[in-house]
Amino acid sequence: MTVAMEKQRRWPGLIEHYREFLPVSDSTPVVTLLEGNTPLIEITGISEAIPKGVRVYVKYEGLNPTGSFKDRGMTMAISKAAEEGAKAVICASTGNTSASAAAYAARAGMRCYVVVEGGAIAMGKLSQALIHGAKMLSVDGNFDTALRLVREVAQRLPVKLVNSVNPYRLEGQKTAAFEVCDQLGEAPDFLAIPVGNAGNISAYWKGFKEYRGVGRIGKLPVMLGFQAAGAAPLVEGRVIPSPKTIATAIKIGDPASRRLALAARDESGGRIEAVSDEEILDAYQKLARMAGVFCEPASAASVAGVVKLAGKGFFQQGQRIVCVLTGHGLKDPDRAIASAEPPVTIPATIEALTEAIKA
Ligand SMILES: *Cc1c(COP(=O)(O)O)cnc(C)c1O
Repeated sequence: MTVAMEKQRRWPGLIEHYREFLPVSDSTPVVTLLEGNTPLIEITGISEAIPKGVRVYVKYEGLNPTGSFKDRGMTMAISKAAEEGAKAVICASTGNTSASAAAYAARAGMRCYVVVEGGAIAMGKLSQALIHGAKMLSVDGNFDTALRLVREVAQRLPVKLVNSVNPYRLEGQKTAAFEVCDQLGEAPDFLAIPVGNAGNISAYWKGFKEYRGVGRIGKLPVMLGFQAAGAAPLVEGRVIPSPKTIATAIKIGDPASRRLALAARDESGGRIEAVSDEEILDAYQKLARMAGVFCEPASAASVAGVVKLAGKGFFQQGQRIVCVLTGHGLKDPDRAIASAEPPVTIPATIEALTEAIKA
């Protein structure tokens, strides 16, 4: 193979790429959309508070096939469900899990049922679940209620639960930690991540520990989890019965992976802190306007949290921070439009256009 051919060689999807680290065998039918292998992009100038000499990167998970990191877990969960002969899957969702489950289930020829909070799903996510043919059931209750319902129903009926309480989800998602290390050549000093149901922070920590265990990296990062202030059960140490935040993907009051997330925090010497909706939206806009990176609001919690800690003098010269941007900005177009200057209507003349450009 020539160098050019080698460079063009197709990424085989994360199960094939990281097969030795995953619970799959030759008899597992791999259901893949070639997820993973997302870019790690260095960003600068996001905040004065970040000292010079501290390098900040974003892991742009919005570039997965359905636009969020959920695809990493879903390729595993659906492949294992197929191996077990499942004909149908079910999940509760704030949106991205439903989009991902619907796409992978479609590919596997399975039925997909999703239970969501009525009126709470961002437009992009809703459109995805629907076009992939999922049966969407909207309830008068939040994500936590929906998750309770689907857990119960999956015990009674032959439908496979594909929320992150399904252990295969975390197995797939841990590969993002592998990629970060492969891309940097070592673990970063800090891994900053939004926390909702708390599966992803747990998966990253598992991934880092496994990579360390086989000697691919020489150190472990400090884990920094960020919740929205109105939905911060891990920060407040209590269930939040009615979580509130514009960051709908992390609007969760009773995280299923609470125990694993707290272990990730404590074992790594890290923190789980809250950021306000204002701080999240500020980071969301700055990422788009100054770094050219469009993520959904919940994703920007990682960057908002890093900016906040930087303001308290938390980081030092020479350190490397990776912020996980969990989902694509197009998921929530309404929020983007509401957060920017509206378009201006002008007459279709050279004079009007000249005037508008000068202004
Ligand atoms: C699911 C999701 C999260 C939260 O991940 P958890 O594993 O539930 O903590 C954050 N951001 C986006 C965009 C998501 O889709």
